[in-house]
Amino acid sequence: MSTDPRRPVRTALALTASSLALLLCAASPGAAAESPGQKIANALRASPVYVDPSLATAVDPAQQRKLVDRIRQTRLPIRVALVPLVEGDSWDGDPQQLAEVVHDRMGGGPAILITLGTYRDDIAAEEWPDDAHQAWHAAAAVSFQDDVKDAGLPRRIARAIEIIEAGNGDAEYKKATADLNGPATHASPTGKPKPSGSAFPRFLAFALGPLLLLAAAGMLLRRRARLRGEVATPFALPRSVFAAARSADEAGLRERATEEVVRLGEETRAADGSPAAVERALDAYAAAGTVLDHARGIPDLAGVFALIAEGRAALSGAPGALPLCFFHPLHGPAARRLPWRPLGRREQLRVAACETCIRAIRTRRAPEVLIDRRDGRPVPYFEVPAEESLWAATGYGSLLGGDSLATRVQRGDFTRTLT
Ligand SMILES: [Zn+2]
Repeated sequence: MSTDPRRPVRTALALTASSLALLLCAASPGAAAESPGQKIANALRASPVYVDPSLATAVDPAQQRKLVDRIRQTRLPIRVALVPLVEGDSWDGDPQQLAEVVHDRMGGGPAILITLGTYRDDIAAEEWPDDAHQAWHAAAAVSFQDDVKDAGLPRRIARAIEIIEAGNGDAEYKKATADLNGPATHASPTGKPKPSGSAFPRFLAFALGPLLLLAAAGMLLRRRARLRGEVATPFALPRSVFAAARSADEAGLRERATEEVVRLGEETRAADGSPAAVERALDAYAAAGTVLDHARGIPDLAGVFALIAEGRAALSGAPGALPLCFFHPLHGPAARRLPWRPLGRREQLRVAACETCIRAIRTRRAPEVLIDRRDGRPVPYFEVPAEESLWAATGYGSLLGGDSLATRVQRGDFTRTLT
C-alpha cells in the first residue's frame, strides 16, 4: 500500500468497503492471500457452502450440494462457513468474529453468514445489514427446536435457511424459547421491544454503512490487541480453560473443575501475597471444594469455576476484579458491568458480562444463557427462585452486595439448596 505523504487524505465518508478491506490487510500483517479468513472467503466466492475438511463427515459432499441448491432457491446472499471454533484460533473461538472477518474478506456488502455456534452443535448466523432477514434469531431458534435437535448439522442448517427465507426468525425464536421464559415471553432478555417502524435508523445504517464498518474493524483490531496483551494477570484463569469447559460434557466439566480447584490450592499455598488476600483465596478454595463435592449438574460446576475465579482474583491483588460473565459463567471473566432488566421484572440490575454478551444486548439480541432445570423444565439459571439456587441469588458473583461467593457458601447458602 502506498505511503506517499503527498497523497490526499481521504475523508472517512469516502471510504468504500474495498478500501476498508485494503486498510484491514495493511493493519494486520500477514493477513494477505493465505490467511484463514481469506481462504474461506475465496472458497465462498466459488460456492455458497464451505466445509472445513475436519467437518467433512458431519456434512458430506452430497449434503453440501443439497445445501447449495437450497440456498440458490432462496435467491438470498446466504453463505455457510463451517469451520471448527476453538479458543485461541484465528477468531478466538468466536463465531461473530469469524463471520466479521470472512465478510470483510469477501468485500462486504449485503450478506447472511451461517457458521457453527459457540456451543457444541449450535449454529449461528450474522447478517449485513443487521437484522434484514432476522437471521440471528433464525439460527438461534434452531438450537431450541426439539424436532431437529438430533437431526444432524445439514438438517439444522437447512431449517435455519428455511426460517431466514421466511423472514420470521424473531417469531420462531420466541416460539422455540417460550418454554424457557415461562408465561411472560420476549424475544430479547433485555425486556425491551425491538425498535419498530421508523425508517430513519435504517436509512442511517445504510448511509453510515462504511463508517460503521470502519468502526467495527477498529473494534476488531483493538480487541485483538487487547487479547494479545491479556497475559499480564498471572492468576487469571486462562481463556482456554473456559473454551475447553464450555465444550465439555458434564463429566468433562467436573474433571476440569477438579483440576482447577487443585491448581488454586497449590498456587494459594505457594503465594506470598498479603495474609488477608491469601486467606480470601483459601476461603474460595475451600468453598470451591464444598460445591464440587456436592455438585449436581452444570450450574453447580459453573459455580466451582466462579469460586476459583474469586480465589484467583484475591491472589492477584487486583482491586475491583469482575466476576465471570453473568449470563453464562463459562464464557469466562466479564469485561464490564452493564444495566440489565430480567424478564417480567421492574427492577434493573447491574450485571457483569463478557464482550460477546454485551454486544448481544447492545444489539437487542438474546445472549446465550446458562440453563438450569426446574421441575424438569429447562430455564435460564437466574429464573430459578433465589432460595432454591445460590447461583440465581448471586448471578455467579454479579449480584453480591459486598460479600463474596465463598462467604455465602461458608454460611451454608449452597448446601441449603441441596434437598
Ligand atoms: Zn457472556
